[in-house]
Amino acid sequence: MERAVSHEQVQELLGAYALDALDGDEAAPVEPHLTGCPRCTAGGGGAP
Ligand SMILES: [Zn+2]
Repeated sequence: MERAVSHEQVQELLGAYALDALDGDEAAPVEPHLTGCPRCTAGGGGAP
């Protein structure tokens, strides 16, 4: 089973993810979230 992460959790991980600084276990749930989350792929934090 994949471990789902919330949008907020992904936002916290995105900085390290962008730097390729996450372990595989940490990055694994981020990638599928990015695929389905336009707010994350847009690079924004969801703030207006
Ligand atoms: Zn998101």
